[in-house]
Amino acid sequence: MRRNIMKIVENNFKFGTMDIRNTTEQIVCHHSGVTVLQSVEIIHDYHKNTKGWAGIGYHFYVRKDGSIYRGRPENTVGAHAVGANYNSIGICFEGNFSKEKMSEEQLNAGKELIAYLKEKYNISKIVGHKNVDTSECPGNNFPMDELRENGSYNIEDDSNENVVKELQKALNKDNNSGLDIDGIIGPLTTKAINNNMVRNFSVSEFARWVQERLIAKGYSLNEFGVDGKYGGETEGKVKEHQQKTGIDVDGIVGINTVNKLL
Ligand SMILES: [Zn+2]
Repeated sequence: MRRNIMKIVENNFKFGTMDIRNTTEQIVCHHSGVTVLQSVEIIHDYHKNTKGWAGIGYHFYVRKDGSIYRGRPENTVGAHAVGANYNSIGICFEGNFSKEKMSEEQLNAGKELIAYLKEKYNISKIVGHKNVDTSECPGNNFPMDELRENGSYNIEDDSNENVVKELQKALNKDNNSGLDIDGIIGPLTTKAINNNMVRNFSVSEFARWVQERLIAKGYSLNEFGVDGKYGGETEGKVKEHQQKTGIDVDGIVGINTVNKLL
């Protein structure tokens, strides 16, 4: 099982028109301002339908349980800090830090996200909403100093290209397929997949790849986890996914199923 890897949960929100941000000079931190739990969907809905904005004003939303959600696209001008939207990324932390303290999980997630953004944009300025605008946000208990510390992060590269590269490496390990690790499913990779279809009771790196992809698609392998053994649990989830994606439900992973696991 993969652990301690920063995962940004993507969304498929519908946004109105937003401008592209030309410069990224700082990160502005916010709190949601309420102690009750709120999903990112609730905030998006509130900003879009009550405030009449293009959609959620923040670029990221960090929840109390340490999960990180994407808000509006990272390259757009936010709607979170008047006067600083044009040159900043806005992160909202769930909670009211005038009244409560931040959980360890949320703090760690925030540190990782900030470390990642600092490196990505080569910036070091991390401020609170109240530093750039008239506001109490993000509250006096907000752990600004800790979030500013140099943290580290480990992000999962979940791009299609990388996922295919992982598959090609697995096929090479299993069968000396000699595939180029180019991240493209061409004729040779297709042939290698179909010659080595994963079926019940096989043990392989390919099977491990299938298990990792099932988890990435939201299935859980509670009993055996990612063990590289294509047992009944994995086969059951493959069948579930085949059913859900409208392909033959045979529990065997060939090219059609691989395509649905990308
Ligand atoms: Zn704020």
